[in-house]
This record gives sequence, structure tokens and C-alpha cells, in this order.
Amino acid sequence: MNCRIHRGTNEIGATCVELESDGRRILLDLGLPLSVADGQEVPLPRVRGLVAKEPDPTLLGVLVSHPHPDHFGLLPQVADHVPLYIGAAAGRILREATFFSPMGLDIEWAGHFEHRKPFRLGPFTITPYLNDHSGFDAYGFLVEAGGRRLYYSGDFRAHGRKSAIFRELIRKPPEGVHVLLLEGTHIRDEADGATQGPSEQDVEAALIDTFRDTEGMALVVFSAQNIDRLVSVYRAATQSGRDLVIDLYAATMARATGRDTIPQAEWDRVRVYLPRAQRTSVIRERAFERTNTVRSQRIYAEELVMRRSELVMLFRASMCGEIEATGCLEGARAVWSLWPGYLREPSGERLQRWLADRGIPMVIHHSSGHAHIPDLVRLAEAGGPDRIVPIHSPAADRFGDFLPRVERRQDQEPWKV
Ligand SMILES: [Zn+2]
Repeated sequence: MNCRIHRGTNEIGATCVELESDGRRILLDLGLPLSVADGQEVPLPRVRGLVAKEPDPTLLGVLVSHPHPDHFGLLPQVADHVPLYIGAAAGRILREATFFSPMGLDIEWAGHFEHRKPFRLGPFTITPYLNDHSGFDAYGFLVEAGGRRLYYSGDFRAHGRKSAIFRELIRKPPEGVHVLLLEGTHIRDEADGATQGPSEQDVEAALIDTFRDTEGMALVVFSAQNIDRLVSVYRAATQSGRDLVIDLYAATMARATGRDTIPQAEWDRVRVYLPRAQRTSVIRERAFERTNTVRSQRIYAEELVMRRSELVMLFRASMCGEIEATGCLEGARAVWSLWPGYLREPSGERLQRWLADRGIPMVIHHSSGHAHIPDLVRLAEAGGPDRIVPIHSPAADRFGDFLPRVERRQDQEPWKV
């Protein structure tokens, strides 16, 4: 089996790995660079058979590890004849997200993954392993072909709501792995990298403290697609005696998971507020079935004001004006529950100024979607791979400081597994 990492050997995101055996090929992920600006054109990697004018039946498919743009973002440029694979829930999340965000994707999938259930594509036997990650329905892949075995970790962490799935991976790792393609988001240039940080449980505990300590409305800025975080915010809200107010986007994502263990709009302690932008979209697209499904749970301005001390609300910068106009912000507090780096971007700075001008204090409660270095080491030790090849890291040259048998590869370099 031969490997070529088209992009991702020394950056977070833009991941694209081509595997070849017996003249046939598969791709693992086809992502956008994280640095890409909105609307900027990014060319496809030079992989034969991806575009319509150059069909090539030796390309057997693209396997998308999880529904984050740095792993699927180039799929809209791929020709219809190329078979595409992703987790079933991840596919639903992307399709439903198209109504709310440019980062959705509505395409035909050739198939879906099941945890530890192998399937064949030509000479390749692929076993998906469900991952604990901030993106829902995320996988790593064991790929076997020609007597060689590569395990691609995908993006994962060990401190989320599915940490048990990571413990299972350590207890029953793929065996006889020749190459571990290991993500290293937290292996950085700084001396020690990120050796630890808050877990999802820590975030829940911190949210409870903040909600109990807040007089008025608790406004939480988090991603509607981060389902682990939705669960944490819901659990913290109910444990501090508050109801959770989500928007139509979050309600739709929760339903798309297909899991009745995930907080749903129709649950007793969940309410749905429709920000103006979403109301406008529903009317413009005549998508009234979307509002009908949450009608009994809707919450309006008057109740936001009356019950502000009993509510936790999913908040976005785009809602500032209309929320202020309701008059529900007296005694409010904001929680930033996204990557803190976004606060240094212009939109993050604008939001902080807006909050400060209104005397609304803000705290940060966040947990990374990626494994800290001790957990990378645990995975490397569990499987005992012959070699570890860095991917999805800003500092691949530092893998050797923490991990054994590291073999660095360059973008586009062909090598044998
Ligand atoms: Zn990623």
C-alpha cells in the first residue's frame, strides 16, 4: 500500500490523504485550509479522477472522517461520479445545516460508517472507529491492503462526552498497525505544547457555577454543531434551575443526530427562540415546516424579559441588537464557549466591546475538541505501531519530542506504508 498526504503534514486542517494499492485508490478526507477566507477559491489537490472532465474508475471513493470543513470542505468541487462516504448522522447534520450556514452540504452519499464494522472498497478493507470529538459522528479508520495496515486517527479527543469510546480504543486498539497517521493539533511550537486543559465535564461544572452566580439571563456563545457542548449547556442549565433557550439551527442539529439522548426542542426544559435572521430565512424559503415542528416550544420577547433569571440562552453576535431591544439583558452575563482564539478576530473583538459597553461581564468556559499530548501518547503506546506519521499539526517537527518512532513526511511526497 502506498500513501501520499496531499495536504496536512504540517498544518491543522486541509487534510487529504491518498492511499493506493493494486492500482486502485481511496482518499481519506478532502478538507479546506483553516486559513481560507469566505468565498476564496481553493484548488483541489492533484488527485486523478476527482473532476468530471477527468473520470478515473481507479478512484474508489472519498471517506470523510467527520463533518468539519477542514475535512470535507472541498467536496462541492468533486464530480458526481465519485463515491463519497461519511457517518449517517454526520451526513444528516451537514444536509440540515445548509439551511442555516454556508458550511452545510447536501449531497448523495454512497455509504455510511458503522463503529468497528469493516467494509471493502476494491483491495481495501476499512474499519471505522467512532471517535470522541467536538464534531458529531467522527471516525478514525483502519485501512488494510496488500498485507499492510494504516490507522488514520482522524480528529479526536479523550476528554469529551464520549471519552469511553477513547478508553475502548486504548483497551482494544487496531492490532498490527504499520503506520499510525496521528493528529497533533496540540503539538505546537511553544515549549510544552498543550499537555492538558479542561474536559467537557469541567466545562459543565464551570457553567453551573456561572449560571448560579448570574442574576439575569445567562447568554452562552457556542457552536450549534458542537453536540457535546449542547449537552453540557443543557445539563448545566437544568442543574442550576434554568431552562435552556436554543435557536432553530441548534434545534435542527439536535434532531439531525437522530439520538433521543441529545436535548431536543420538545423536551420540557428546552425552548426555541427564532432570531430575526432565521425567521427571515423561513419566510423567504417558505420553510414553515421548520417552525411548525417547534411551535409549542417557541419563546418570545416578553417571556425572555419576565423569566430572564430562569433562562440560559444560546447567543450569537448577530443577535445583539434584537436581544437588547427586548430589554432582557438586565443582570445578564455572557459565556464564551468556543475556541478563545476567535476572540482575537475582528468579530470576536466587536462582540467583547458590545458586551463591555453594556456592562455585561464575559467568562470563557471551553474544552478543546482535540487530544492533549498525554492522550496522543496513550494511543501511540496502545497500538504499538511500527511508525507514527504526523498530520493535522502546526509543529510536526516536534512530534519526536513526545512520541516514539516518528517518521515525518512532506505534503505530496509518495511513500510506502
Ligand atoms: Zn480537523
